[in-house]
Amino acid sequence: MRYIERVGIQVFGMQVSRGVAIGRAVLVASSRVDVAHYYIDAGRLDDEGARLMRARDAVARELAGLKQDMPADAPAEVAAVIDVHLMMLHDDALIGAARASIRDRHYNAEWALSAQLEVLARQFDEMEDVYLRERKADVEQVVERLLRELARADEQAAAQGVSVGSAIAAPAAARDFAGEDPLVLVASDISPADMLRFKRSVFTGFVTDVGGRTSHTAIVARSMDIPAVVGAREASRLIRQDDWLVIDGDAGVVVVNPSPIVLEEYRFRQRQSELERARLDRLRHTPAVTLDGQVIELLANIELPGDAAAALAAGAMGVGLFRSEFLFMGRGGRLPGEDEQFEAYRDAVVAMGGLPVTIRTVDVGADKPLERLTPQELRHEHAFNPALGLRAIRWSLSEPGMFRQQLRAMLRAAAFGPVRILVPMLAHLSEVRAVEESLERARQQLSDAGRPFGPVELGAMIEIPAAALIVERLLRHFDFVSIGTNDLVQYTLAIDRSDEAVAHLYDSWHPAVLELLRRTIAAAGAAGKNVSVCGEMAGDPVFTELLLAMGLRSFSMHPACIASIKQRVLRADTGVLAAVLPQILEADDPAAASSRLARPWPAH
Ligand code: PEP
Ligand code: MG
Repeated sequence: MRYIERVGIQVFGMQVSRGVAIGRAVLVASSRVDVAHYYIDAGRLDDEGARLMRARDAVARELAGLKQDMPADAPAEVAAVIDVHLMMLHDDALIGAARASIRDRHYNAEWALSAQLEVLARQFDEMEDVYLRERKADVEQVVERLLRELARADEQAAAQGVSVGSAIAAPAAARDFAGEDPLVLVASDISPADMLRFKRSVFTGFVTDVGGRTSHTAIVARSMDIPAVVGAREASRLIRQDDWLVIDGDAGVVVVNPSPIVLEEYRFRQRQSELERARLDRLRHTPAVTLDGQVIELLANIELPGDAAAALAAGAMGVGLFRSEFLFMGRGGRLPGEDEQFEAYRDAVVAMGGLPVTIRTVDVGADKPLERLTPQELRHEHAFNPALGLRAIRWSLSEPGMFRQQLRAMLRAAAFGPVRILVPMLAHLSEVRAVEESLERARQQLSDAGRPFGPVELGAMIEIPAAALIVERLLRHFDFVSIGTNDLVQYTLAIDRSDEAVAHLYDSWHPAVLELLRRTIAAAGAAGKNVSVCGEMAGDPVFTELLLAMGLRSFSMHPACIASIKQRVLRADTGVLAAVLPQILEADDPAAASSRLARPWPAH
């Protein structure tokens, strides 16, 4: 009956990337998103089932051993809990269902187990009886043990050179069997690092309960160029495993179990948006020049060196923002050394084949935490506001050895092609001096060691209002500036960009934001220095005319956004736009005033 009641319900959130995705829901508990999700080849299904059963038997032996070794005076409850766990290990509702998922859906054992855990957890949540409801924790513990055992067995097999399980298999390998429905991932929350794991994944769309449009989870989802909705609050509670979902990425809506008519309507829209994409794709090699002959630089934002291929394919003229912190995340706190970083930067530089690569120094903190935090540091993060704390350049300057290591890696990569170093979250001239000194020392260290390195340009991110207000002074020290509008809006309006509860107040059109943008672009122009916007505004076509009117000539965005921004650029006349800028800035509704400036794209 529940299913019938839930036909066609809509869950509202915030759109992350455009387009429509239709697929079956895969619910993933936030604590379990780091479990590998991949499909098993038809020929290996029996092996995977056996792998699960071996883990089950090993955990059963471990529990039986625990019970046997229990001191005689141990409380009876402990033995009873072990018995419950042993029972669960042999219960069809857990192991039987997970085996069925391996056999019928080709899920790997970890995925099958965590999917079944999700189903059971919901059943427990709905139980009236408190005692039974609390048994949920037991299932979680049992699954936790099984997952640990699967990982341990893989590690052991890998050490012996045997190829089995998630330690060896590529996470989320492509589907290799027909008839499987497309899948949409539904989670309460996904950290940016875990989101990155899904980059080459089996999922065709995402829904999360939390997050704002410019949260880093949303940014990574957008870079994957698949429809996603964040901040959908109740989604993971309302949606059930295997529900059919439509993700309307344009409207930020998720439709659960759509009726046939609604489904047909969305399938039609899906085809339309594919046609639109194909049409935009044709612009890939068209130079981005306005009607009045202004050449506009369209650059790519990337998270990993492997993304450079997508940047080139989309026609990017370089990388305007390489978020190096993604090399630091999702590795259990072990930071990448100089050589590992150098190789990543060099790979991006080489892949871009002579086009400039802007590498940002590590920007951890706030919604991109390092797992390295000690319990004490974690308490600190929770007690204080991490967005205002030791993040980005503040963190780098507090770890000078780590910072110089990163700078050395970047300087070495610069021997392979043009590199620009970009420093996030600067606000103080003392920080600027410290950065200059660190860069100088890093150069000196490389010279002393006789290691080759290349020339770099140095740039500052303007993403704190204080930096925008002293941009003239900052420009004396830097070769270029790049405006991080995601944070600039957050800090100007005092709105946490990751908090869906205040997302309606996160307003890039706010006159204060527009004024900071205008004066930064104007100051860079007056100083004859390059200025770019690398926040999400750059890739959102509704802002293209406004930014061109302000004099911006360099935009950096997800590769997937480049074609639609280019379309706007090709129809724009910067002279006309600049003339009406004062009217837009003065308007009560600058968004409406600006939208009147966009020229329609002629229909073919
Ligand atoms: C920004 O703040 O606009 C930006 C580009 O940096 P990030 O989104 O990584 O904070
Ligand atoms: Mg930022």
